[in-house]
Amino acid sequence: MAHHQLVIIGGGPAGLAAATTAANAGVECLLIDEQASPGGQVYRAITDIPPQRAKLLGPDYQYGRMLVEDFNASKAIHQPSTTVWSLDAQREIGILHNNQAALLRADRVIIATGAMERPVPFAGWTLPGVMTAGAGQILLKSAGIVPNNGVVVAGSGPLLLLLAWQYMHAGVTINAIVDLSPKRNFWTALPHLPRALLAYHYLIKGLKYQLELKKAGVPFYSGVADLCALGKESIEAVEFTHNGGRKRIETPLLMSHFGVIPDSHLSRSTGCHHYWSPSQLCWRATIDPWSNSSIEGIAVIGDSAGIGGAVAARHAGRLAGLESAHLLGCIGSKERDEKAHQDRRWLAEDLHVRPFLEALFRPAPNLLAEPENDTLICRCEEITAGTIRQAIEDGHRDPNQIKFLTRCGMGPCQGRQCDNAISQLVAHELGNDIEKNEGYRIRPPIRPLTIEQLADLHEAGEAK
Ligand SMILES: Cc1cc2nc3c(=O)[nH]c(=O)nc-3n(C[C@H](O)[C@H](O)[C@H](O)COP(=O)(O)OP(=O)(O)OC[C@H]3O[C@@H](n4cnc5c(N)ncnc54)[C@H](O)[C@@H]3O)c2cc1C
Repeated sequence: MAHHQLVIIGGGPAGLAAATTAANAGVECLLIDEQASPGGQVYRAITDIPPQRAKLLGPDYQYGRMLVEDFNASKAIHQPSTTVWSLDAQREIGILHNNQAALLRADRVIIATGAMERPVPFAGWTLPGVMTAGAGQILLKSAGIVPNNGVVVAGSGPLLLLLAWQYMHAGVTINAIVDLSPKRNFWTALPHLPRALLAYHYLIKGLKYQLELKKAGVPFYSGVADLCALGKESIEAVEFTHNGGRKRIETPLLMSHFGVIPDSHLSRSTGCHHYWSPSQLCWRATIDPWSNSSIEGIAVIGDSAGIGGAVAARHAGRLAGLESAHLLGCIGSKERDEKAHQDRRWLAEDLHVRPFLEALFRPAPNLLAEPENDTLICRCEEITAGTIRQAIEDGHRDPNQIKFLTRCGMGPCQGRQCDNAISQLVAHELGNDIEKNEGYRIRPPIRPLTIEQLADLHEAGEAK
């Protein structure tokens, strides 16, 4: 079986920085990513993008080029277009490349799988013509595809505003920006403002996007509740409550977004310890200051360990790269600590803004925990909130029992889309803590794999 000193899963800023740092310190290192080119979510397609499109995505996006150049100049090996579908506590890794499943092993593994958009089931969210803002941004970054008949963007979080700003520069008609962050969030965020001012450039950037969008005449509705998408075959309009009345906007396309959460299914499938974060409203891996998880030889970094953004991901990546070089015998602890000093400082500085952003963009509790009975929660198996409530009423007390009974979370996405919603719905119905009910127990394959691919499994590096 192919064996590596260090395998890094995920080629975003966290994974790239970890791989570059470790490889430059002498570690033999393989970076696996399901995308065709390095960059992750934030710097998606950075090496292939036409200059004009890169320009409209903004200067932050273009920074990714440097990160990729440093990675390319290192001795780290890049394995693109490869999906990791399993990882166990013994660091055996299941991969899928060119339709071929294989296994490999590593002395150390760094999970850098990043973030995913928080799935929020609202009325009409499964209608054709309703998609997430992140999906819209992926189409823009990777293929230059933008809506041509206007769009409503709705939800909360910095990415929503960023996409609207990028669309405006791309000439897209934005029918409305519908902000679902409750107005009271401002007051709960206010105590965090002094600390956030230490990373004021983020706040300035957000204000700039808002001002430019308002100046361009984009209609902006804030303090909105009860969003629903309406239509027969596909979306025709959105409706929401604003200033005490119902407002309807005709639109052929709705892009929703409610913040991002760690893509934690791979780390959870290893069995390493996770906890429910009440401020980020998601499961997070328990890690030490070097990002080591509770399982020896497995680290979790960047947004996959908790949402910190691209800059924090880069610093955490360098720290984990140094730690790996140390634990694999390439550098001593003194050299590791000296080289880590600046990144540790910058990481702490960059994270100052997080408590403010988390409080400001926190989704309304009823949005997450009180979907209507006929709203689909598990899209793959078409299980509604009503079916889940019935299962709870029948005595099923945690998400795993409900999964056995209803099949929610057993479809092709393996629960990635309904995991958090189920946890929050169950806790709300039972009136107890989410942590008490556990989340789904995640088992491989964490990404779809056919029986044929599994039957044809071989060890990476083995001749077929
Ligand atoms: C859709 C989306 C768009 C975003 N756009 C922006 C933006 O424009 N600006 C911004 O500041 N922040 C953006 N963010 C937030 C941003 O992702 C992070 O702050 C930052 O990229 C985190 O870096 P990372 O290295 O931790 O993870 P990422 O950059 O997300 O990189 C993770 C990488 O892991 C790969 N991966 C995941 N699972 C597997 C697997 N099982 N097998 C193989 N590879 C895998 C992914 O393909 C990805 O390349 C976005 C988030 C999302 C979800």
